[in-house]
Amino acid sequence: MSDDHDHDHDHDHDHYDSPKSRRPRSEFELRTMALEAALVHNGLLATDAVDAFLEGIEHRMGPHNGARVVARAWIDPAFKARLLADGSASVAEMGLAGPEGDTVRVVENTVDTHNMVVCTLCSCYPWPLLGLPPIWYKSFAYRSRAVSEPRAVLAEFGVSLDPSVEVRVWDSSAEVRYLVLPQRPAGTDRLSEDELAALVTRNSMIGTAFADHPSTQG
Ligand code: FE
Repeated sequence: MSDDHDHDHDHDHDHYDSPKSRRPRSEFELRTMALEAALVHNGLLATDAVDAFLEGIEHRMGPHNGARVVARAWIDPAFKARLLADGSASVAEMGLAGPEGDTVRVVENTVDTHNMVVCTLCSCYPWPLLGLPPIWYKSFAYRSRAVSEPRAVLAEFGVSLDPSVEVRVWDSSAEVRYLVLPQRPAGTDRLSEDELAALVTRNSMIGTAFADHPSTQG
């Protein structure tokens, strides 16, 4: 996939035949099903290979990984410096490399700068750190408006920024996938690395949210 940007990350697989799926197929579903059937029919793909790949995405990849990276950066200045200088190496150091995660660049939110990530062409996203992207990340509205009116989009996500804060929008691609290092919430000095990781939401690592404050968690 590395040389082909215009890919579809969706793979609606395990419930083709479940009762709840008796709704009209979208064009993409039909295309995906036809492609998979043709690959299997011609001996180019084993169905269990697809299942194993999806299982890996669902269980080994996800925002809990990105949250570990962020929490470590919050407590370990040397790691944070390495992470910002070479995201890919630092993520690999934590054993979090994998498909769609070869080249990761981490951008830091500060009091002066807020970063947000989009893939304007499709849905490029650091799978090992965040799992598969949410539906809205793949929507045309987000992909266009994140660039044309980022502050309005952020406001709709509940992120209100002082006008003095610079907003930087990063366009993820097949070559570079961005991860936002959110600001560490106030009042978290005594929290452990695991407790800090629990404050780091998926959206905070895309830039469409702040990290949770401890008082907002149950
Ligand atoms: Fe993409």
